[in-house]
Amino acid sequence: MGLFSKKETCCICNDKEGKKKIANGYVCKDCLHLCSIPFQIKINKNTTKELILNEIENNKNNKNLLTVFVYTKRIGNYIEFDENKRLWLIPDGFGGKKVNPKIYSFGDIVGYELLENGDSITKGGLGRAVAGGVLLGGVGAIIGGATGKRKTKTIINSLKIKVTINDTSNPSTYINLITTPTKADSFIYKAAYSSAQEIISVLSIITQNSSARCEKETNSISVADELTKLKKLKDEGILTEEEFISEKNKLLNK
Ligand SMILES: [Zn+2]
Repeated sequence: MGLFSKKETCCICNDKEGKKKIANGYVCKDCLHLCSIPFQIKINKNTTKELILNEIENNKNNKNLLTVFVYTKRIGNYIEFDENKRLWLIPDGFGGKKVNPKIYSFGDIVGYELLENGDSITKGGLGRAVAGGVLLGGVGAIIGGATGKRKTKTIINSLKIKVTINDTSNPSTYINLITTPTKADSFIYKAAYSSAQEIISVLSIITQNSSARCEKETNSISVADELTKLKKLKDEGILTEEEFISEKNKLLNK
C-alpha cells in the first residue's frame, strides 16, 4: 500500500472520506457544505468538531427561517426587514438575491454606524441617543452635521454601514453601499447615500423600540415582584384585605 491510499474518515458523519483537516480529524466535502460559506472560509486545523456540529445546526435553522421570511420592507438590494416576524437579513447574492443569508432578529441589533472612506459619519444603538443629534429632525438632520467635511472629498471609495450584533462569535456585519471609487457628485453616490440614510433611520427605530421593550419588561417584572411581596404581607396578616387592595391598585395604576 502506498502513501496515497491512506484515507481518513470524516469525523462528523463517520462515513465519507475526509478532505479538510480540523482539530479532531478530517471533515468530508458534504459535511463542509452543510456549513455557511463565511464559516467554511474560517475553518482551519484548530476548528473543533463541536464548533462544526453547532454551525451545521445553526445553518439548518437559518435555512428553515429563510423559507418563512417574507419582507415587509426592503431598501434597495441592501437589506430586507420582516416586521411581522421581527427579522432582517442582508441579501448575500448578486443583485439582491438570497443564497443563504444570515437571518437576524430585531433584538440582535446592538448598534450601527455609517462609515464613509472609513470615517464615522453617524452612529447609534441600544440605550443611547443617535450621536450628533436627536432623531426629531429626521436622519437628514443628523447626517447634515458631516456635510462640511464631505466637501473636501470628491471621490468616495467606500460607503458602508456596520451593524453590531449581539453575538460573540460574529459581533458585526456590514452593509456595503459603495465598494469602488465613485464621484461624490454622481447619481450613484447620491442614491447610495439616500439608501444609507433610510437604513440608518430604520435601524434607529428598531433599536429605540428594543430599548423601550426592555424597559417595559423590567417594569412589569418589578410590579409582579411588588405584588408578590404585598400578597405575602396580607397572608401573614400584616396588611388588612382593604390595605392590600388599595396598595395593589396603586401598583397596577402606576
Ligand atoms: Zn462527513
